[in-house]
Amino acid sequence: MQLQSIREALVYYGKKMEEDGLIIGTGGNLSAKDEETGLIAITPSGVPYDTLTPEEIVLVNEKGAVLEGGKPSSELSLHLTLYKEREDFSAIVHTHSTYCTTLSALGEPIRAVHYLIGNAGVHEVPCVPYVTFGTDALADACAHAIGQSKAALLGNHGLICGENSLKEAYHLALSMEFVAEIQWRAMSAGAPKLIRKEQMDDALIRFESYGQ
Ligand SMILES: [Zn+2]
Repeated sequence: MQLQSIREALVYYGKKMEEDGLIIGTGGNLSAKDEETGLIAITPSGVPYDTLTPEEIVLVNEKGAVLEGGKPSSELSLHLTLYKEREDFSAIVHTHSTYCTTLSALGEPIRAVHYLIGNAGVHEVPCVPYVTFGTDALADACAHAIGQSKAALLGNHGLICGENSLKEAYHLALSMEFVAEIQWRAMSAGAPKLIRKEQMDDALIRFESYGQ
C-alpha cells in the first residue's frame, strides 16, 4: 500500500471535518497529491468518515485511473481538474458546510465582510452557478470561475478549496465557513459594510508575510 502518511492524514481530517460540523454523513470529500509520484489520494465514495480507515483511501493517477482501492469520491473529476489547473494546490477540501452552502443557495459570493477572506488570496470568493454534482461540467465550471482564488462556492451545493497542504486546505475551509457565517448574519440584520478594495489589498500583503 502506497502513501501511508497521506492516507492517514486524509482519515484524520475527514473525521475532523465531521467533528467540526463541516459535513453531514458522507457529503464532502478530501484529496491530497503526492508531489514525488504525482499520484492523488482521495476519500472513497459513500464511506462514512467515522469508520473510514487508511486502507479505504483510493489512489488514482492524474487521469483518474484507480491504482489502489475501490470507488473514489463522486467528485473525483472536480479534484483532478483543479490539480491540473492549479499547480499551487497539493490538497483539496470539499464541504457542504452550512453557511457556505447557504450563500451558495443565494448565488452570493463570499464577500469581504471580514479580513479573513484574505486566506483565500482574494477580495471575493466566487460562486459557481449550479451544475449537477459529480459531473465534468461542474469541474469545468469551477475551474473557469475560481480564477486566482483558493476557494469557490458551488451553487446550491457547498464549498471547494485548495492549498499547498491538507492542513492548510482544512483551515481554509474552516475560515471560509467563518466568513460565510458572518456574512449571512450581517445580511440577515441589514446591509453588510464591506472592506474596501484598497483596504483588502493592504490586508493581502500582510497575509503574504504572516506566519513562519
Ligand atoms: Zn458535494
